[in-house]
Amino acid sequence: MITKKLEAAINDQITAEFWSSNLYLQMAFYLEKEGWDGFAHWMYKQAEEEREHALDMAHYLIKRGGEAKVAMIDVVPSGWGSVLEVFEHVYQHECHVSELVNTVVDSAAAENDKATQDFFWKYVREQVEEEATAAGIVDRLKKAGENGLFYVDAQLAQR
Ligand code: MG
Repeated sequence: MITKKLEAAINDQITAEFWSSNLYLQMAFYLEKEGWDGFAHWMYKQAEEEREHALDMAHYLIKRGGEAKVAMIDVVPSGWGSVLEVFEHVYQHECHVSELVNTVVDSAAAENDKATQDFFWKYVREQVEEEATAAGIVDRLKKAGENGLFYVDAQLAQR
């Protein structure tokens, strides 16, 4: 059985994952409207992935005897100026999510809940990939410049 304190920390993370999903959905809408089908496709997948994280955490919480909550999700930003700006935002946001995930591991350690620490280590490791992937796309976009955007767009359509 999970402690109430840890249940609250996991529910906060579930809310954060839904918020991330909405942020990426909003980015996908922007990219689609701008005619970047490949970037939009990548971003729709990213939004789906964040929703899956939220559900995975909820399933875990329920399995441990806790109660998963769908809280109110704050409005997400919109209106970016360029594709590069969007992906720089993705990178910044993933760095922020890494900090949030680390906080959950810290909370689990404080409660001496080893199963929850173990469960969230998976996300600590995954955040390394998320940050690296976003940084890699930012780098590619910078190298590609305006004229190479179509090429990167086609690459990201492959996701
Ligand atoms: Mg996530």
